[in-house]
Amino acid sequence: MLERLICAVFGHRYVVERVLNHGARKVGCTRCGKHWGMHDGTRSFVPWDGELEALYAPGGILAQASGDVPPNA
Ligand SMILES: [Zn+2]
Repeated sequence: MLERLICAVFGHRYVVERVLNHGARKVGCTRCGKHWGMHDGTRSFVPWDGELEALYAPGGILAQASGDVPPNA
């Protein structure tokens, strides 16, 4: 819990854990262990949950579409 307090005050210590496709990645915090999904195209930054995991898993709809996404979409 102390980690969460430190993160709340100083900000998270982000690392890229997984590159999902060219505009999207999964990031995590090495201090508190939280995870987020980051998407450049929609400028979204959302908490990582089971739903995102399923979308980006091999065979998931976003994993499937990744080859067709333009780099600056
Ligand atoms: Zn953190």
